[in-house]
Amino acid sequence: MDFRFTDEQRLWSETLHTFMEREVGRAYIRQHDESREFPEEAYRKIADRGWLGLLVPEEHGGLEADPVMYAIFCEAIAKHSLDFAAAVMTSMFTATNIAHHGTAAQRERYLPGFLRGDVKFSVSITEPGAGSDAAGLRTSMVADGDDYVLNGNKVFCSGAHLPGTVITVLARSGPDRHGGLSLVLVPNDHPGVDVRKLNTAVRRSLGTTEIFLTDVRVPRGNLLGEAGDGWRFIGEHLEYERLGLAASYVGNARTALDDTVAYTTGRTQFGRPLSSFQVLKHRMAENACEVEAARLLVYSAAAKMARRERAVKEVSMAKVFAADVAFRTSFNGMQALGGYAQLPEYDMERYFREAKHAMVGGGTSEIQRSIIAKEMGL
Ligand SMILES: Cc1cc2nc3c(=O)[nH]c(=O)nc-3n(C[C@H](O)[C@H](O)[C@H](O)COP(=O)(O)OP(=O)(O)OC[C@H]3O[C@@H](n4cnc5c(N)ncnc54)[C@H](O)[C@@H]3O)c2cc1C
Repeated sequence: MDFRFTDEQRLWSETLHTFMEREVGRAYIRQHDESREFPEEAYRKIADRGWLGLLVPEEHGGLEADPVMYAIFCEAIAKHSLDFAAAVMTSMFTATNIAHHGTAAQRERYLPGFLRGDVKFSVSITEPGAGSDAAGLRTSMVADGDDYVLNGNKVFCSGAHLPGTVITVLARSGPDRHGGLSLVLVPNDHPGVDVRKLNTAVRRSLGTTEIFLTDVRVPRGNLLGEAGDGWRFIGEHLEYERLGLAASYVGNARTALDDTVAYTTGRTQFGRPLSSFQVLKHRMAENACEVEAARLLVYSAAAKMARRERAVKEVSMAKVFAADVAFRTSFNGMQALGGYAQLPEYDMERYFREAKHAMVGGGTSEIQRSIIAKEMGL
């Protein structure tokens, strides 16, 4: 077994890391975390390079990269921040619903604008009464003539407030718990849609929102697939979402560790660098093992998806493990930086906040463990 990247994969990774250093940079990311503004200039640079189309088939104008190349992308763009990675990835994995299941008219209407960077996508599954129990959602979708009419309250929909965003809403079109769910496209400026940005500790630049849908009337042509296909589509979507998230956790954990090594090597106390104290050295060594292990889980899951094999268990394993690793690495970084860890200019407090959210976003760590257990036949 060869654990190395191919030449093409290595070049892709190097290109992305150079891009993140030269064209984005950690100061830009920090500034957008503080201002809570969407990183539009960096997003446009990614669009201009065609990278938003990584998951879009070539026949629809995309690059049709395999899941390994996609994981390399997600790992690299999370170098400075999980929030930034989510700002880019959210539209990308949500676009797969349209690319894979949309009609020709839906693809023509939305994909060219998305690939140019003008149209963004967000996905709205969660409701105040339906978080981990996503299939318990109650937002209603009722057929009426040539339209569907939606009513309900969604919460934590990331990016739904951004200009030009089309929200992919999972709504209840029938009584069956899973078979009664449908996925429908709702532009965020549509009459009856009220989107409010929330003041969260994380996802500050992408932003997450609460949505109120009141008699929202959309044409039947906005439905993805058939009524009742929603749960199946979201399952596929979540595999890409969770793989991308897991890869991003690895990318950010690596930076948290690199920053900890750099800081403890440069700072002297008791006449010695902090990095010479065994307790700190061992924590960094332990985190280095864990980051590498998380990385292998991510690429093993991605490779399985690239072979078009079912990888639900492997993706959940990668996500739950990488989230814990990102949290432990940034937690140890917080301790190693002492009081300076509290200052935004050291970035560690951002890594720490965002790593905590990694245990919740895209399905909590408890739910990932339940999925793994179910796949184990338990
Ligand atoms: C910043 C942010 C961005 C988000 N972005 C999006 C988005 O873009 N789109 C979207 O649809 N959602 C989004 N979410 C929602 C996210 O997916 C949910 O928060 C998450 O699924 C958990 O739901 P909940 O918050 O309602 O917690 P709950 O489901 O109430 O869970 C609370 C706790 O109980 C545990 N728990 C619940 N059920 C079980 C069980 N059966 N077994 C063991 N433990 C259990 C959970 O693991 C958790 O620890 C976002 C959330 C945040 C905070």
